[in-house]
Amino acid sequence: MSVRQRGDGTVVLGAGLAGLAAAHYGGPGVRVFEALPRLGGKCATDQVRGFAFDQAGHLLHVRTPRVRELIQRLLPGKLRLVTRDARIHLAGREVRYPFQANLFGLPPEIKAEALRDYLEAALAPQKKPRHFADWAQRTFGATMARLFFEPYNRKLWTVLPEELTLDWMRDYVPRPALGRVIRGAFQDVPQGGGYNETFWYPAKGGIDQLAVALAGRGKHITLNASAREIDLRRRTVEISGHGSVPWRRLISTLPLPVLAARCRSLPKGVREAASHLRANSVMVVNLGIRGPRLHSAHWIYFPEDKFSFYRVGFPSNFGRVAPAGCSSLYAEVAVPAGTGWDQRKTIAGRVRRDLRLAGILTARDRVVVEHLQYLPYAYVIYDQAYQSARKHVLEYLERQGVASIGRWGHWEYSAMEDALLAGKTAGQTCK
Ligand SMILES: Cc1cc2nc3c(=O)[nH]c(=O)nc-3n(C[C@H](O)[C@H](O)[C@H](O)COP(=O)(O)OP(=O)(O)OC[C@H]3O[C@@H](n4cnc5c(N)ncnc54)[C@H](O)[C@@H]3O)c2cc1C
Repeated sequence: MSVRQRGDGTVVLGAGLAGLAAAHYGGPGVRVFEALPRLGGKCATDQVRGFAFDQAGHLLHVRTPRVRELIQRLLPGKLRLVTRDARIHLAGREVRYPFQANLFGLPPEIKAEALRDYLEAALAPQKKPRHFADWAQRTFGATMARLFFEPYNRKLWTVLPEELTLDWMRDYVPRPALGRVIRGAFQDVPQGGGYNETFWYPAKGGIDQLAVALAGRGKHITLNASAREIDLRRRTVEISGHGSVPWRRLISTLPLPVLAARCRSLPKGVREAASHLRANSVMVVNLGIRGPRLHSAHWIYFPEDKFSFYRVGFPSNFGRVAPAGCSSLYAEVAVPAGTGWDQRKTIAGRVRRDLRLAGILTARDRVVVEHLQYLPYAYVIYDQAYQSARKHVLEYLERQGVASIGRWGHWEYSAMEDALLAGKTAGQTCK
């Protein structure tokens, strides 16, 4: 039977978690086309000489019981629940995360300044913040903003914090009560908070097991099949190697600007709106080390400019992802969209130097594997144009029968759990 004749009219583009969940819940007639030779999207794992490297850290922070049930059903007995140990490297010290609730770790004079400014900000008359930098100052005071919120977010997003709105923060920036901030300044006890206090991770092997289990068997998933052009009027998609495939409902998980660029005869206004959608890219430098664990934390944030990376994680503390007697780490370096890959050797060299500067790598540690990854779309940028541009494109596509879902399809800062939920909703509505 040819691709043209098969299926119930629902076509899914992309076999990351959102696309796989759409197929899982959409029934046997749903067909999935994936550009790459493997499934999983960002939830894929690279196997390199006994080390399993995810695409930077991919930890399952689960808020909803139905996603918890799903992952436990897909990977019965294979997942561990881990309590986060995250730090911030600042002024040559390590402060527990979240920074604003754990000032205890700071040098006394900086701590005093941070607390004074925090209380001043808390007592000041409330005004609507103009942008993220303004919000950070008004919420946490000038010192915490200067030491952490501004430099960290500038590094992560690769734009000025003044360009960012507040629309992305709801789940991602903990706002502890005043009492907790004060307690955290005087007591060295972990002050929890935030969306990522615990996480699930496979006891053995990488996060790709989740995608593989979700794909299951007998689903119509075609790999090496890239969506080249979408004809919204005739409701067809041109798939490399498979010709023109008709659809009644199209579920796309391609990055939204890529999808827009591939739609034939898109109205000028929609194309113009799509051109305002911005993202950064992330280069991941993974190292496999012969020797015991390098650090006890799961990950560390680096706000200071002297370090090239914004975060370093230790996968061999998540589960068994390294050969016996070895450990692993990844460093994430954010770069403006589409740049950096041609500089990868220089960036990797700087990362190693900065890991030594931070005291994470020492002369004793033998690096046995270096593995570089590049995520061309990593964090979508919530600037002033974001809301209206995104809405314009998504609503137009929806009217044409196209659901654009997932972290990059829906153009949002979201996690694996959200991709699963979005895929579930899209799959069920096309039944
Ligand atoms: C640096 C970083 C760290 C992260 N850490 C975490 C974490 O710790 N925990 C967490 O929950 N989430 C994390 N995330 C988010 C997580 O990766 C996403 O939420 C989730 O994987 C999104 O899945 P998706 O299916 O929407 O997109 P994707 O995984 O990108 O899937 C899209 C698929 O479409 C395919 N595709 C692209 N173009 C075409 C085409 N033309 N034709 C056909 N197929 C195509 C791609 O190859 C890909 O397989 C992180 C993301 C980043 C960038």
